[in-house]
Amino acid sequence: TENEGNCLIKGKDLYPIPRVNQSGGEAPSGYFTQQEISKLKQALEELSQEKVEKYIRKSLADALGDLLKEEKLLLLSQLLGMELLEPEPKRISAGELILHLERKAEAQANSCQLKGSTRILIQAMVKSIEQSSELKTRDRALTLEIEKNRVKSINTTEGVIESDAVVWTGSLAQFFQLAGAVSFPEKWVKKVKRMERVSGLALDFGLREKVSEVKGWLFEPASKILARFPSNLDPSLAPEGKQLASWLILVSEQEINDPEAVRSAIQKLRAQIKRLFPDFFALAEWERILHLPIIDSSALTHKQSRLDRIEINAPGLENVFFAGDSVSVPGIRSEVALRSGIEVSQRCLSYLRREG
Ligand SMILES: Cc1cc2nc3c(=O)[nH]c(=O)nc-3n(C[C@H](O)[C@H](O)[C@H](O)COP(=O)(O)OP(=O)(O)OC[C@H]3O[C@@H](n4cnc5c(N)ncnc54)[C@H](O)[C@@H]3O)c2cc1C
Repeated sequence: TENEGNCLIKGKDLYPIPRVNQSGGEAPSGYFTQQEISKLKQALEELSQEKVEKYIRKSLADALGDLLKEEKLLLLSQLLGMELLEPEPKRISAGELILHLERKAEAQANSCQLKGSTRILIQAMVKSIEQSSELKTRDRALTLEIEKNRVKSINTTEGVIESDAVVWTGSLAQFFQLAGAVSFPEKWVKKVKRMERVSGLALDFGLREKVSEVKGWLFEPASKILARFPSNLDPSLAPEGKQLASWLILVSEQEINDPEAVRSAIQKLRAQIKRLFPDFFALAEWERILHLPIIDSSALTHKQSRLDRIEINAPGLENVFFAGDSVSVPGIRSEVALRSGIEVSQRCLSYLRREG
């Protein structure tokens, strides 16, 4: 049957993941009992009654205490964490998780997924920008020309661009290279360099025929595997009757450039796919591997909640602003990037108006 929700991968079987954040009756699940679901749901509801600031820098393990000694409740909380790409309750920010579940319930949405595809969003943004401005897509920023505490211009691969204000969306490590000898506050530099990222490997497949009807995510928290059959999101990539399958395995930042660790992660992922869908590889028309040193530039742990990520204004440079998923705005993953874009445009505009 068609399943809009997310599923737990358990060996060769899939089980619907109950929606513990929604009011009303719990969704049935072949793996978790109603009692287990209600227990976690009630504990999360109790936390959400309190001031969220209290929990934002606290781990879920700390917030829920002994409850997570029960194996199934631990698994349920790991599954919730997978939506934040962090299945370890000792690292999940309890406050961020609660806020995410509340937003998800309010939006009546299934985890963090853009309606339609990213392409639809990008096309709309391009259309809007081109109505009033020029969009340059070939210019790679190389260095910043700085005078006193302002960026005057940017040297790019296609020439120099004069700038009244700059919004930097790339990696912060690269920003340091671009800015050259600017002396940023030591504490800030340390914070930026300490930021932990999420890395991993993705395997995408084009399948000759439909393999799964599940529309949500498939999660296997112990091996940090997540998957999706996204043909429904972007039919242009998979014609009627065929199917796309995207599989992701999270690999630590330390291991992502170690060939042995990468090989072993890919083997683990392929073995899991085969366990679930024995005919999968025979049906694959094409496949590609993506090596992803950055999936999320700020892992959503209790040490990197919105209170700890970087501010929008660059310290010491009055006309430089940061946007992207490492910025201190509410949300998770691409939601952080999108919200930071909205926030940055307002800050930038008021700066430009102030400066005349
Ligand atoms: C395989 C995969 C699947 C994902 N799935 C999801 C999902 O389902 N839901 C979700 O919410 N998030 C998902 N994410 C995470 C999401 O993609 C990121 O959180 C989001 O893209 C971050 O946006 P950003 O603007 O910070 O960075 P980016 O999207 O990386 O954008 C940075 C931009 O800066 C440009 N740039 C960098 N350096 C320069 C330079 N020197 N000059 C000019 N331009 C430069 C880059 O070309 C790029 O376009 C996924 C990520 C990956 C890799």
